[in-house]
Amino acid sequence: MTTKQTFVIVGGGLAGAKAAETLRSEGFGGRLLLLGEEAERPYERPPLSKAYLRGETGRDSLYVHQDEFYAAHEIELRTATRVDSITPSAHQLELASGERIGYDRLLLATGAAPRRLRVPGAELAGVHYLRSRQDADVLAAAASRAEHVVVVGTGWIGSEAAASLRQLGREVTLVGPDAAPLARVLGPEIGCVYRDLHADHGVRLVLGTRVAGFLGHGRVEAVLTDDGNTIEGDLVLVGAGAAPRTELAEAAGLPVRDGLLVNAQLEAVGAAGVYAAGDVAAAWHPRYQAHVRVEHWANALNQGPAAARSMLGIPAAYARLPYFYSDQYDLGMEYSGLATDWDQVVVRGDLAAREFIAFWLKDQRVVAGMNANVWDVVEPIQTLIRGGRPVDPERLADPSIAFDDRLAHQP
Ligand SMILES: Cc1cc2nc3c(=O)[nH]c(=O)nc-3n(C[C@H](O)[C@H](O)[C@H](O)COP(=O)(O)OP(=O)(O)OC[C@H]3O[C@@H](n4cnc5c(N)ncnc54)[C@H](O)[C@@H]3O)c2cc1C
Repeated sequence: MTTKQTFVIVGGGLAGAKAAETLRSEGFGGRLLLLGEEAERPYERPPLSKAYLRGETGRDSLYVHQDEFYAAHEIELRTATRVDSITPSAHQLELASGERIGYDRLLLATGAAPRRLRVPGAELAGVHYLRSRQDADVLAAAASRAEHVVVVGTGWIGSEAAASLRQLGREVTLVGPDAAPLARVLGPEIGCVYRDLHADHGVRLVLGTRVAGFLGHGRVEAVLTDDGNTIEGDLVLVGAGAAPRTELAEAAGLPVRDGLLVNAQLEAVGAAGVYAAGDVAAAWHPRYQAHVRVEHWANALNQGPAAARSMLGIPAAYARLPYFYSDQYDLGMEYSGLATDWDQVVVRGDLAAREFIAFWLKDQRVVAGMNANVWDVVEPIQTLIRGGRPVDPERLADPSIAFDDRLAHQP
């Protein structure tokens, strides 16, 4: 039924590339276009703040597929091709070049873009953001000439980039409004692990502080904080979070609320034939009974294929637990679940040695878990979360009790 159809994917990132791959592996025999505004084929972003930024891995290691993959699977990959508008009622889209393309199914996998700081001096040379490979190349080159780097923002990108820049031997100051790096997601108890980790590696931390502006003559020379202090720096990296790239959806009148609203099958609410996956998608999550937008690698990796199956009429709700990972210096971690508020954080292991599993509990149930320098435990952590049964915090914290889903039974 699908051989004469045209499916179009907008966004040549991980979600778009994996969706294209799945459409073919599931037997879609029609015309398949993958349109991306970046000049190169789809690549993965996590190394951009880690090994790639440090120059430890090359460009080839980033790509989702080999160059030949797209032609071999008759995927019309068009790079440097921006989609300017979509018209869902007419099943048509328009490229920046003016070319119009009709489609039977459309997947929006447009990702997210860094939030820009709107403060005086934000346009000075030397103020950087990090999203694309090109950004990483420009940042790495600038860092090689810089003496003192100021990283603004203590979220994932800011914290990881601060670690990498420090590992490259730069003087690094990390500035942010929270009490500890990553405290917004992990809370103060686990955020302190990251605060101490950065301090131990010689990063200067300026916490509880907002940036009021950037000072300099043509180039940034210092960062002005809201308490009136200045921090000298000849290079600034801003990691102030990212916003979903919903501009096409919004202009087309599709429902947008922190992402394009899609149902559990990843199809847009009220716009049959339009789907979303990855950072741009606010997908109805059966477990949370809410639209959830997950800005992480595993979500793009898995939602792309899920959306592809949905486009082919293979029905399945996307119900994976959110999952992400981060590497900073010699501390690797994985986080599963979603903890927006919690009553208690239980630690199993040694926070000071940075080898532990942390559990976030709400009403005695594990809602999220993070393993730090402890490996091969994601499955039991996720089983505990999915089970949703009450746990005994003391047993959970006790390393002499085997860590498996029996922990979920009350003693
Ligand atoms: C520096 C960095 C480090 C990260 N590290 C981690 C990590 O350690 N762990 C983790 O879990 N996650 C990490 N992430 C997050 C992860 O990379 C993202 O969640 C993932 O890239 C999302 O993939 P995506 O395909 O949804 O979007 P993207 O990768 O953003 O791809 C979307 C693509 O669509 C294109 N596009 C947008 N609009 C249009 C248009 N109108 N026309 C044509 N093309 C368009 C964009 O240019 C882009 O190429 C990191 C992200 C960054 C930036």
